[in-house]
Amino acid sequence: MAIPDFRRNKLQLIGVAVALPALVLASVGIALTMYIAAEIETESARYNTYLAEQVTEAFEQELLARLREAIPPAEEVARAGGTPEQIRRALASRAREFEAAHFVPVDELNGYSLLVVDQQLLVFGADPSGRRQHPFAALMLNGPDGVVGAGGWWFNPRAFLAAHLKEVAQDRLTSNPRMYGGIESVRNLSIQVLDARGNEIGRVRDPGGTNTGRAAEMTGPFEGFRVLITPTDRAAVAWAGRFVWIEIAFIVLMSSVLLAATFFGLRYATRQIELAQIKTSFLSNVTHELKTPIAVIRLAAETLEMKRFSQPEDEDKLLRTVMRETERLSQLVTNILDFSRLESGQRAFQFAPVDLAEVVESTMESFGLRLEDAGFHYEVAVPNDLPPARADAQAISHCLINLLDNAMKYSRQRKEVKITAAARGQFVSLSVADRGIGIEPSQQQRIFEKFVRVETGLVHDVKGTGLGLSLVDQIIRAHHGRVEVVSTPGEGSIFTLILPVWSAGRDAPRPSPQAPTGG
Ligand code: ADP
Repeated sequence: MAIPDFRRNKLQLIGVAVALPALVLASVGIALTMYIAAEIETESARYNTYLAEQVTEAFEQELLARLREAIPPAEEVARAGGTPEQIRRALASRAREFEAAHFVPVDELNGYSLLVVDQQLLVFGADPSGRRQHPFAALMLNGPDGVVGAGGWWFNPRAFLAAHLKEVAQDRLTSNPRMYGGIESVRNLSIQVLDARGNEIGRVRDPGGTNTGRAAEMTGPFEGFRVLITPTDRAAVAWAGRFVWIEIAFIVLMSSVLLAATFFGLRYATRQIELAQIKTSFLSNVTHELKTPIAVIRLAAETLEMKRFSQPEDEDKLLRTVMRETERLSQLVTNILDFSRLESGQRAFQFAPVDLAEVVESTMESFGLRLEDAGFHYEVAVPNDLPPARADAQAISHCLINLLDNAMKYSRQRKEVKITAAARGQFVSLSVADRGIGIEPSQQQRIFEKFVRVETGLVHDVKGTGLGLSLVDQIIRAHHGRVEVVSTPGEGSIFTLILPVWSAGRDAPRPSPQAPTGG
């Protein structure tokens, strides 16, 4: 049963009308999320650059602060007009983490660089003698008659930075009121000091996985070193990055759910429309199936009553018509009743050892006449030594009648029907073969669904309810068997019922073997 094209187009239009905006909205959502994430990253990178510069400056100031703290005795000596030796000794008394104390007289200052750090004049330079590889850092010393020289120490910047990294980062950086972002944001940042080759000298907190880390070059005695600031895993930018993917996953999930709901909703609607159409056509088919035999019976009865026949053998013919149509009517009513019982699960089967040869024989006693009346030639090839099937004989006869009825309905010129049976291991099979119109392979499974009829091609002019095969299938399933179909369009069809063999050991102890039905 197919939905008309115009209605199918409408459903497809609804599908597109829902799916398209959903996809557009999802894409906009994803684009916006990614844009926001990119903005956050840019802002974070800018912040980290700024912070790297601040930390660099803080390190340099720290050096100056420590120098100033250490140098006063040397300054006092210089002011008192002390000799270079006395100044050097005063410097040595305060040298702690710095290496050898050193005094550069004013006339030797030419080879040194002057550096202004935080408005203080700082002297520094590499060891001119080349004995030491480390820079020299010092403050200018003023004597009573002006500048007497510079006093300071040789020191190892690598060791100095490593030793002071934590202290500077945690104390000076967080308490610095100029620091952008305040204490909280500094806590979620990793600070690393790298040497010229990129080797790490020390770190405060582990860097997270973001790529917004930025470095600033150090100057003066720390030239060649860099401070690298990277957000840790707990920084806002890191979880914002993760949140982006979670949000995108949500958007994708939500749109998938929406699209799936649309898809299933439309499929359900299609199915409902199909069902409504199937029901309507079922009703009209049943009405037709009921009315036709009734009309025929009525006509035959009237003819008989009024004795409106010329030949005496016509009376027999009319009686046979009444019989045939009554059987047809009764089969239709049985089918409908059986169908409703099976659907409601109330159809009970009395399983017993059944000889299929007997079932075929008794069925053919009445049905054989119908076949012959319709001009069919039929053949029965059922061996007598078949193992008994575990079945309900009446139900199997009912199935056989349905298959024979179909063979009759769907045959054209070649009116041949063959009934065969065979043993198949633990099963017995009963087949009805015809040389009729056959069934398209694409329809061979569908025809077992209730109300389904192939309404194309040659079947068009044959009336039916679409119940027969669905009944046969349900009954045989309740027997723990199955129905097979082999069919070639234009050649014919073979329908085979496969039933389990009655096994005394397994089946006998059951007091009242009944199989539930339904669905
Ligand atoms: P009905 O015969 O009342 O339509 P059935 O359930 O018995 O319902 O059959 C379903 C459909 O299967 C039929 O409409 C017909 O198209 C197809 N069919 C059944 N048996 C045969 C057969 N022997 N040859 C060709 N087509 C068949």
